[in-house]
Amino acid sequence: MTTTTTTTERRVRQLSPSELDARYPIDCTIDPRTGVVRVTKLWEQVNLVRVQLPDGFGIEGKFWLHKDAAPVFQEWFRAIGKADLRRDIMTFNGAYNPRLKRGENVPKAKAGLSRHARGLAIDLNAMWNPMGKPPAAIGSTGTMMRIAPLAKQLGLVWGGDWHGSSCDPMHLELGIRD
Ligand SMILES: [Zn+2]
Repeated sequence: MTTTTTTTERRVRQLSPSELDARYPIDCTIDPRTGVVRVTKLWEQVNLVRVQLPDGFGIEGKFWLHKDAAPVFQEWFRAIGKADLRRDIMTFNGAYNPRLKRGENVPKAKAGLSRHARGLAIDLNAMWNPMGKPPAAIGSTGTMMRIAPLAKQLGLVWGGDWHGSSCDPMHLELGIRD
């Protein structure tokens, strides 16, 4: 049997730390003691754009994203609208946020930067999809199970696919296709 692969069927995966630095370099300092991340104003001005949830979503959402990630997330919001799943977005819980990854053994250096620090990720429906727990089941309040597949088709990576303590079902980030 032969299988054919088209562009849209190719798997979307997470960018590695070195790919992140090559594609989305960031100008910041990280306090090695406290882990506080300071991004330069110039970097923010050059790289970030203001994004808004389209009309018809039940929640107010205005936030900053990397200019390369913003169109992909906006396409996803449009796909959610078309599929009549706007109500599946219950809460907005963050986009651009200059900080380190959450967790105990995060290095206080560039390798420990959260993808939110580069404006490449969004968190939604956090209350029902806490980090380290499996995603809220389909049919239950706050589920991401119907809207996440639409995101993955468009090139986003869903944290709900990660295993064990890394599972982060509130989280979506810009990915890469091999
Ligand atoms: Zn996140």
